[in-house]
Amino acid sequence: MTPRPLLIGGKRDPRASLPVSAVSSSSIQPLASSFQNLGTATLSAPMAQRFCEVALPVPLRSTFTYAVPASFNGEELIGRRVVVPFRNRAMVGVGLALSDRAPEIASGKKSIREIVELMDPLPALPPKLIELGQWISRYYVAPIGETMRAMLPPEIEVRHDREYSLSDAGRADLSHLTSGSVTTEEESAERALLQWVNEAGGAASSAQIRRWPGGEASAERLVRRGYLSAREVLRKRRTRTQKILAWNPGQTDPLTNDAEERIKEVLTAMRGPLPLAILAAKAGVSRSVILRLEKKGRLLAWEEPLTIEEDSWDTDFTPPTNVLNAEQKSALEEIWRWIVAGKFAAALLHGVTGSGKTEVYLGAIEAALSRGKTAIVLVPEIALTLWVGRLVRARFGASVAILHSGLPDIERAREWWRVRHGEAKVVVGTRSAVFAPLENLGLIIVDEEQESSYKQEETPRYNGRDTAVYRAQLEGAVTILGSATPSLETYHNARAGKYQLLELRSRVENRALAEVRIVDLREEFRREHRAAPVSETLRAAIALRLEEGTQAMILINRRGYSWSLLCRSCGAMIQCQNCSIALTYHKSRQRLECHYCGYSIRPPKACPKCKAEYLYFVGDGAERVEEYLREQFPKARIARLDRDTVRTKREYQQVLGAFAGGEIDILVGTQMVAKGHDFQRVTLVGVVAADLALGRPDFRAAEKTFQLLTQVAGRAGRGELSGEVLVETYYPEHYAIQYAVKQDYVSFYEKEAHFRRMLHYPPFAALASILIRDRKIENAIRWSRALAGFFEPFENRGVKILGPAAAPLARLRREYRFQFVLKSPQRSALSRALTGCLDFCASKEIPETAVIVDVDPASLS
Ligand code: ADP
Ligand code: ZN
Repeated sequence: MTPRPLLIGGKRDPRASLPVSAVSSSSIQPLASSFQNLGTATLSAPMAQRFCEVALPVPLRSTFTYAVPASFNGEELIGRRVVVPFRNRAMVGVGLALSDRAPEIASGKKSIREIVELMDPLPALPPKLIELGQWISRYYVAPIGETMRAMLPPEIEVRHDREYSLSDAGRADLSHLTSGSVTTEEESAERALLQWVNEAGGAASSAQIRRWPGGEASAERLVRRGYLSAREVLRKRRTRTQKILAWNPGQTDPLTNDAEERIKEVLTAMRGPLPLAILAAKAGVSRSVILRLEKKGRLLAWEEPLTIEEDSWDTDFTPPTNVLNAEQKSALEEIWRWIVAGKFAAALLHGVTGSGKTEVYLGAIEAALSRGKTAIVLVPEIALTLWVGRLVRARFGASVAILHSGLPDIERAREWWRVRHGEAKVVVGTRSAVFAPLENLGLIIVDEEQESSYKQEETPRYNGRDTAVYRAQLEGAVTILGSATPSLETYHNARAGKYQLLELRSRVENRALAEVRIVDLREEFRREHRAAPVSETLRAAIALRLEEGTQAMILINRRGYSWSLLCRSCGAMIQCQNCSIALTYHKSRQRLECHYCGYSIRPPKACPKCKAEYLYFVGDGAERVEEYLREQFPKARIARLDRDTVRTKREYQQVLGAFAGGEIDILVGTQMVAKGHDFQRVTLVGVVAADLALGRPDFRAAEKTFQLLTQVAGRAGRGELSGEVLVETYYPEHYAIQYAVKQDYVSFYEKEAHFRRMLHYPPFAALASILIRDRKIENAIRWSRALAGFFEPFENRGVKILGPAAAPLARLRREYRFQFVLKSPQRSALSRALTGCLDFCASKEIPETAVIVDVDPASLS
């Protein structure tokens, strides 16, 4: 049987009693109704008709007004998820504001429609988060509905579906078809489908249709020919559930036996609420013991959707017990003071690699919790949520939740609501965890604050770090931005006194920073007369490590075997069909692949342009470096860590675990290996092609190179053994490389700041990029020209406009791309230009999807 749709869209609905029809027929003509009510209002005092502004996940910059049915009077609507009809479908949105004044309805428009259903009993978004969303929407000129959508939990309660029903034409045709003769197989299949829909009462869900030969494809064909009509519907999802148990803190009777003690231990100190089966296994007790304890009221129980996700906390783990050193202590004392003061404060925790920043974070969380507040810890990538999450959980137990986009929806929704209900007090997560629905927030930590992964590369294009600072300001919380290599923006703010500056100048236990040496590839080539994937100097250093039995880590920041395939005869580079970019060769898969759109082909034998057979591979990637090392060191245990070798967090953990456990001698990898991890026996870090990023047309190229080199250098010599770092480059004089070698952040900052100031780049100007894109190059050009005209007067209003020019990636996924870069010393002037530009596009009917505005872009390339 088909579950009842929550809401049906579409006009030609045969079943008039279903909700949507009820909505449109009963929605009130506001003016008329208030007029009619005048006479009776004093007697029965009916509540005035109310209206709710609802944010919907559509790329439009407005909210939408819906009437609130009288049956929802007394219900909280602000921040609540609601189901509403939108165009001819149902959507989940969130209520933002109420009013009892009817909006004006433009003539010719339909009447105001009603909210159909309220979702969760508790409003998903607390007021501060609504405020935060409104700020993001303004600051990043992002549609309000899409912004709010980014803050809400996954929609696991409903699923979008299509429903097919017989149209009048279909019905007529059916009688015709049954009488007439059928010629082709396809026709007979279609007739069978129509007949079946007819017998099923005139409508069928896509799930039912899928069981028919031809399935949805046939149905869609029939829709196009007008025999069936299709509508988007929302259905309640029916899920299997499992019993979850939690310790009931309200009960204080003494425990009677060991089994009960163990259950309590697992549920309070070790883990937090658990499914029955896992609890039984963890505590080593039978189910009946648990169920008896539940009957006694010692346990709370509820049903949750069943998940099959692995138990990521399962590893045995004892955190190190470190006694804080003087620098850590004094940083922490400052943080305690701010948290006790209970006011907004922002600080940069600038600590060299291996200075023990994590201990300071843990102490800060403790401070927040001790004042009855909550805390968020942001980390730059999913893998680190596990690493940091385990430390935090080992310290603070079950009140820790993990939130990141890699979790299955059901699990993320469970963690999300656990946070919303106040069961979790600390959230560890990636970028979007800055929206964790914690109340009474006291602290937000942003680890590795300079990472570009904090910037979301789709709407809303917010930066998680900057959002953290704004949120802390809203909530009167403390925010700590931690880094060994702060972004120019953050260090600038610290110097200007906008942020406090906390410094950890030395490594824990006064371990030395690794010695960094440059391998000048120009000289190498003069000496060796060949370019191997790894320089002779680096090869010799690896051989030494293998002899003495310590480990080496090799960073090569390019995936694949070689960057491109070049024709020696005509000079053509084999390019992606859809993008203006060379295809990368992956030897193990025997494919040339586009890393942007996924397009891939078999490597051709001859040049597609000139047919010559002189194709050769240019530029070594991680796969080639690994192969070379295997040739050179056949006995060594070598592993590679990049997106081609590890696809899941489990695989990632396995490789890193094996390396940490000494089962691997040489680990080759992309920047995945550079971050955060603490390996004790690594004595050599080699960086192959360290200057790759320097060639990019991007104002952050030097900053990124400096950061990556410093980070990766920080991986060496973290244990008792001292470490060495070899950096291969063709540009040994470049200041980014020079200062990285000296691990001198402040000098790098000063030099880089000097260039940024001269060229009017952040942090000395507000920056935005606008991309105009379309599959038709004429459109992209025409719209770019129109916008250029629009921007012209802004030159006199303090905004510098560069462009339109072909974007650095001039074609992507078959779309032609043109770019404007806007700079202004005043953020407000920039914002006005951007908002104006979107209004202008709307007035010129330039599609919303053709214009991408990126405020504070992570890069311009
Ligand atoms: P960072 O993030 O600053 O690079 P981590 O926080 O990862 O550094 O700490 C590096 C290592 O130092 C970790 O193994 C940690 O357990 C250890 N550590 C931290 N503080 C101390 C301390 N006070 N004494 C000894 N070891 C410490
Ligand atoms: Zn492509």
